[in-house]
Amino acid sequence: LIDFPYSNIVVLGLARSGTAAAEALLANNKTIRVNDKQATEQDEVVIRLKEMGAEVVIGSHPISILDGMDIVVKNPGISYDNPIVAEAMQRDIPIITEIELAYYLFDGPIIGVTGSNGKTTTTTLVTDMLKKSDRPVKVAGNIGIVATEAVQSMKEDEALVLELSSFQLQGTEKFRPTTAILLNIFEAHLDYHKTLGNYKQAKFNIFRNQTEDDYLIYNAEDKAIAEEVKDARAKLVPFSVQQKLETGAWIDDKYAYFKNEKIIELSKIVLVGEHNLQNILAAIAAAKLNGATNEGICQVLTTFSGVEHRLQFVENVNGRLFYNDSKATNILATQKALDSFKQPTILLAGGLDRGNAFTELQPHLKHVRAMVVFGQTASKLKQLAAEVGIKKVVESENVEDAVKAAYSISEENEIILLSPACASWDQYRTFEERGDMFVQAVHKLV
Ligand code: ADP
Repeated sequence: LIDFPYSNIVVLGLARSGTAAAEALLANNKTIRVNDKQATEQDEVVIRLKEMGAEVVIGSHPISILDGMDIVVKNPGISYDNPIVAEAMQRDIPIITEIELAYYLFDGPIIGVTGSNGKTTTTTLVTDMLKKSDRPVKVAGNIGIVATEAVQSMKEDEALVLELSSFQLQGTEKFRPTTAILLNIFEAHLDYHKTLGNYKQAKFNIFRNQTEDDYLIYNAEDKAIAEEVKDARAKLVPFSVQQKLETGAWIDDKYAYFKNEKIIELSKIVLVGEHNLQNILAAIAAAKLNGATNEGICQVLTTFSGVEHRLQFVENVNGRLFYNDSKATNILATQKALDSFKQPTILLAGGLDRGNAFTELQPHLKHVRAMVVFGQTASKLKQLAAEVGIKKVVESENVEDAVKAAYSISEENEIILLSPACASWDQYRTFEERGDMFVQAVHKLV
């Protein structure tokens, strides 16, 4: 721990991040008190942390665990309404997340990625671009392993790419990524952050501690972001899919550029969708600023077909292009998916009924030639199709049958897109399970 000014630490919540934090603190000879309501004496982690010298309090959240303590390391999922957290705030005890701790454990380059949408995609792109450029790199945070765990085994010269949620960022004080990416801010998670203002401030924490030596890559078309970054100390690196930007990443109708350098021809990029183009430009900027080569960047962009279940290209079966967007559990996500294609499309949609009429999908159905619907919302979607004049509509039992039905009515050069606009819970445990069923069914066609 480099200059961590606290000695007595409460670790609140024993999920993976809490466990990693507790272990790191013990390894650095700190006095810690771990608290988890659900853990039991038999839990392997409880036994291990006790053996390592931690005081472990389980079964409840007694206020007294704060007595004599300097700081709280809070699991990002624990609400600020939690009585212990509220009491800590009353007592002016700082509350941080494990991200802040990770920062004290690592003084190498950190590329931090945040935004309401596109975090996983952008984080994955940057990491892959650096890897393909033979630049040593580790990825952690909201994706893969916990940040505190990743920093324990960093090699000389290695860069750390962190996917960061607003929950994690709200609990940072000194955390300073050498490169920050701020993708976009939409209204989200207000149950946790209470106000949109708080939510934005949590996201803006990503650049608050940056210095003149650091880079802040931001979406020039997001007004709230563009306004706020004027106060940043870091070097500003904007990206945009709408305007030429000599200081950042941008496109014309043929190529993507970083500053004045041509990086790749757009037609060679496998990922589809304007939102992904934004993620790509942000990733190109971060990769270029952290030593990636154009070859490495192009290798990724000409092969990467998307993060699983997020508008992911699956397969070309006799000229039919199958895309898995099972993560689209709401209308907004399906709108984006539909806007990503200009070719005739067969849309596979349906799932848990939340009482929505799906009318907001209407303006996005221009290229949809046929629909295959399933799940609780099947009849509503059928009605929608009738209203916009889509003649071919098939009702299927489930996603697997929907794939067969779509294939049987499809023509060459059509898109077959699973983008359900609904949660999966009426038929599948998770959107991942639903997406896996889709992919398997597609592979069976071959
Ligand atoms: P996150 O990790 O922030 O949830 P993902 O990369 O997993 O983001 O993408 C989740 C969904 O968010 C995508 O399926 C897409 O619908 C939407 N999305 C992705 N990138 C963007 C973006 N730059 N702008 C708006 N929406 C996006």
